[in-house]
Amino acid sequence: MSDPIRVRFAPSPTGYLHVGGARTALFNWLIARKLGGVFVLRIEDTDRERSTDASTRTILEGMTWLGLHWDEGPVRQADGLPRHQADARRMLGEGTAYRCFCTQEELAAKREQLQHEYRYDQKCRAIPAGESDARAAAGEPHTLRFRVPEGVTQWDDIVHGETRFENASLEDFIILRTDGTPIYNMAVVSDDIDMRITHVIRGDDHIPNTPKQILLYQALGAPVPAFGHLPMILGGDGRKLSKRHGATAVGDYAQLGVLPEALFNFLALLGWNPGDEREVMDVEELVQTFSLERINKKSAVFDTEKLFWMNGRYLEKKPAEELLSLVAPLLVAQGLITEAEVETRRGWLLHLLELLKTRARSVKDIPAQARIYLGDEVEYDADSVAKQWKDPLTAERLGAARAALEALEPWTVEAIEPALRAAAEGVGVGFGKVAQPLRVALTGSSASPGIDHVVFLLGREGALRRIDRARERLAAGTAA
Ligand code: GLU
Repeated sequence: MSDPIRVRFAPSPTGYLHVGGARTALFNWLIARKLGGVFVLRIEDTDRERSTDASTRTILEGMTWLGLHWDEGPVRQADGLPRHQADARRMLGEGTAYRCFCTQEELAAKREQLQHEYRYDQKCRAIPAGESDARAAAGEPHTLRFRVPEGVTQWDDIVHGETRFENASLEDFIILRTDGTPIYNMAVVSDDIDMRITHVIRGDDHIPNTPKQILLYQALGAPVPAFGHLPMILGGDGRKLSKRHGATAVGDYAQLGVLPEALFNFLALLGWNPGDEREVMDVEELVQTFSLERINKKSAVFDTEKLFWMNGRYLEKKPAEELLSLVAPLLVAQGLITEAEVETRRGWLLHLLELLKTRARSVKDIPAQARIYLGDEVEYDADSVAKQWKDPLTAERLGAARAALEALEPWTVEAIEPALRAAAEGVGVGFGKVAQPLRVALTGSSASPGIDHVVFLLGREGALRRIDRARERLAAGTAA
């Protein structure tokens, strides 16, 4: 059996978990799950100024919320410092790197003079080893630079195909700063070798780093992993997704009432597709279907409308029991029910959620929809009233419904509709002529779940009280 594949997600803890980063993590996770590989989490915290523990926590929380569990880590890149340095020094020993004694001022002056044309002029390449050692031993400050060989560096990108860079376009880049700290590419390659990463899947903003990294692998005598660069994520206007487009943090979407399983599914389709019409695919199905070959080259558009549509589909599928644990705190916070009622009215609440979940696009929609059932006030929608109560016989029809509900035994959901049908027949009209005005009387609107469930959830008392109020309005002529 061949060695298992090893992939990694390597966020820099300098902010929140961006949906783009989450998409990168998710693709890596899917590959690992699909191919029985290992998913490693590495926190790239070498930028001491900008890295924070709070950011690391937010990233880990976001991944956990999405269900992106890592098999190894989190490894802190900063802990690898001695190894990064040892790898760079080994390259110095082997001649693939050299000491550069040019001062900051000297380099800045050259940069100033050549502006865009500037590239390190390799001045220190020619310093003989003996002289270089002596100057270093004498304490002269220096950096280590990589000796870029002649030729071409190329790789077969999993997403973009054959990709090549002329080595002449790369300068002899620094690998160790004057203070002995590694630059980014050095740390990344040293870590990826140490972690035996077989596939580097990351955003395509990293493409310019890849030729440098490949050269470092070769210099260190390590096998070069496969690389795949994921397409950029754009906002609806075709520009790179940013805060200007709205929420970009995974945590923001949690706050907006998006379910993790919906965001997971949505992110999986950002730059990948199953090759057929399927869109709503749960984690299992995504693991089964995911393939590196189907990752698109083209940028993906973050369509918020689609995300909320998908969230609606997941809300519909979610068992009411699970939904209640998300919705109950919101209902309590909005003063719609008490903590105690969450337990005492559990069965009733579950029934209500069964009904509402088919119409919600966000967990946050549900309290507003639940208000009608939990409070006693009805807000009448003027259009619904004008349309459904315009017939002069409305009061009579509501009266027939009232009588039927008052007399109904046993009080069950199943018994309600036949009783209302019989009432409609009794006043010589079709069911709709009673059900629609009744719907408005009970909920204020002509759009609501099935009338039998609405009546049942309001309870006999509640339903009769609302019918009475509607009839009073009709009698007073204040209805329309
Ligand atoms: N730390 C880098 C970032 O957050 C990722 C580096 C990599 O994946 O190689 O963009």
